[in-house]
Amino acid sequence: MARVTLEEVTKRYEDVTAVENMNLAIEDGEFVTLVGPSGCGKSTTMEMVAGLTMPTEGTINIGDREVTNLPPKDRGIAMVFQNIALFPHMDVYDNISFGLRLRKMDKAEIDDRVEHAADVVQMKGMLDRMPDEMSGGQRQRVAIARAIVREPDVFLMDEPLANLDAQLKVHMRTELQRLHDQLDTTIIYVTHDQEEAMTMSDRIAVINGGNLQQIAPPLTCYNEPANLFVAGFIGSPGMNFFEGTITEGGFESDFFEVELDPASMGVSAGEDVTLGIRPEDVYLAEESSSLTQPTEQIEATTDVLEPMGKEILVYLLLGEDVDIDLDDPSSGSQLLMSVDPSADVESDQTIEVVLDRRKVSLFETDTSDAIQHGLVEPAQAGTDGATGAEAETDD
Ligand code: ADP
Repeated sequence: MARVTLEEVTKRYEDVTAVENMNLAIEDGEFVTLVGPSGCGKSTTMEMVAGLTMPTEGTINIGDREVTNLPPKDRGIAMVFQNIALFPHMDVYDNISFGLRLRKMDKAEIDDRVEHAADVVQMKGMLDRMPDEMSGGQRQRVAIARAIVREPDVFLMDEPLANLDAQLKVHMRTELQRLHDQLDTTIIYVTHDQEEAMTMSDRIAVINGGNLQQIAPPLTCYNEPANLFVAGFIGSPGMNFFEGTITEGGFESDFFEVELDPASMGVSAGEDVTLGIRPEDVYLAEESSSLTQPTEQIEATTDVLEPMGKEILVYLLLGEDVDIDLDDPSSGSQLLMSVDPSADVESDQTIEVVLDRRKVSLFETDTSDAIQHGLVEPAQAGTDGATGAEAETDD
């Protein structure tokens, strides 16, 4: 087990800065997932921890040792990758024990370690199977067992579930969590899949364009995203955004107004802000009696409906002129809502919706940084838990 720290780590290729000034402190035994869109620098960050790529600047520590310039074999790490490269002519036992045999470890010790690792990944009865006699999930478990027998201080996993089908992926997610509980080892995991990141990790590090956006527990990233990028990336689908301006009485956009107390929300009249609202915090007007703090009704036209089973995602168009460029999200006229599957909604209908004011987030339009998550009103400041315990109040 070991703590892993990156201090001001930058990786530049000729004309690309893959990772910029990355500061990360991953605690001993923690499961941290690096998540972000393709090309954001996740794998490069992981490869620098592994020693497969050298940083241009900065230092990396594993445990109490600086490892910035050490080769991979001296770092106390084990890696599991997306492409499961098992030796096709070796059975499970030989595949798992390959590295130990290379190191000429004592046979009894090898047997002990293989047995333990096979037990952890539930492959104990399959040690004489050949790779072509196994499913994708079983092969991935062998690859994980091969990492376990090395008894690393840190596991590095780069999209290990990417090639598995959806059902198996969900199953392996629980297996990896169980593995983490059992081994109690530091795990750094890379994925572009925010759902995978949300479900498994103690904390997720959201990266975009080589820059760390936020590192926090999954629900903190969901409920209190540090900026517009995190709010849009975390959650499926992401948050809705509307650019607008703060007035004396609240937020005003081209499509609707939301009553709020600017001072309590940390903004002032005239300020350009972006309002964020998650699809599940938008309601049909007839449901608004269940809300303590609904907005005024907003007229909308239903566009596409996506039935998901437990919910229907309804794409709404706001404003009188609904002839809007759907490829241009900055038009800000699209609003996505999630409704109960029993709701009576069809496409091309005019309906009224409301937002749950308690759930609005405000972001600075210029910098995209979060200003406030959840409603704070003067009368409630500091007293009402329903406005969000995390809300900051000055008085
Ligand atoms: P991710 O894992 O998030 O998809 P990567 O870390 O692989 O992203 O890549 C980050 C950026 O660095 C990308 O723009 C990629 O093209 C660039 N990059 C990665 N490796 C190299 C390399 N060896 N030479 C030049 N550019 C690279």
